[in-house]
Amino acid sequence: MIIAIDGPAGAGKSTIARMTAQKLGFLYIDTGAIYRALTLKVLENKIDINDTASIVATAASTAINLVNNPDGSLKVLLDGIDVSQAIRQPRITRFVSDIAKIQKVREVLIKLQRELGLQRDSVLDGRDIGTVVFPDADKKFYLDARFEERVMRRYKELKALGENVTYEDIAKDLRNRDTIDSTRQCAPLKKADDAAYVDTTEMSIEAVVEAVLKKIRKTG
Ligand code: C5P
Repeated sequence: MIIAIDGPAGAGKSTIARMTAQKLGFLYIDTGAIYRALTLKVLENKIDINDTASIVATAASTAINLVNNPDGSLKVLLDGIDVSQAIRQPRITRFVSDIAKIQKVREVLIKLQRELGLQRDSVLDGRDIGTVVFPDADKKFYLDARFEERVMRRYKELKALGENVTYEDIAKDLRNRDTIDSTRQCAPLKKADDAAYVDTTEMSIEAVVEAVLKKIRKTG
């Protein structure tokens, strides 16, 4: 079974997808982490962000893997090295959407996402899972929340990680990524026609997970 959870940054996708996968005993696949891992490699190798050919070549020659830890958290491996923390740095967040909008990069990384998802029952979260990666997913969700709430969630998350950020920094980053992600030519962020829309603004994490599980269990 494939469960697709899409939506903009800060809507609660990763937390909800991880908890849903854990409750169901499914594999959890954070597709944003895959784009982030490639971005880390591009920046570490000092490849120019406009050098599309080199970025595509790097995507094709890079091994990215996701491992579900027993506690439900995710380990992200870049060429065998654990980069789970490194991919959350603000410098990665700043450039990831520019790399994710390159069509040939998406072709390589979508193939990887399909291979990972087909290993066994999976919950995938991202921007285009229900529309492009798994258009025939068994269940699709589109999680959303009011902009200010999404900014506040990200702000609290990064503060908890000890990052030196301001609310305004996060608002600027989310606005920028929302624009790039939803206006790009290939696989823009949009709700699949058959996805259930969930506005999480006023909902607790537990309530969203409950609502998602209820829908999944409804028709088996
Ligand atoms: O989910 P997260 O915020 O970590 O994703 C980082 C970025 O990766 C997004 O802003 C988007 O540009 C890109 N992405 C994507 N397609 C996906 C998942 C993430 O383009 N399926």
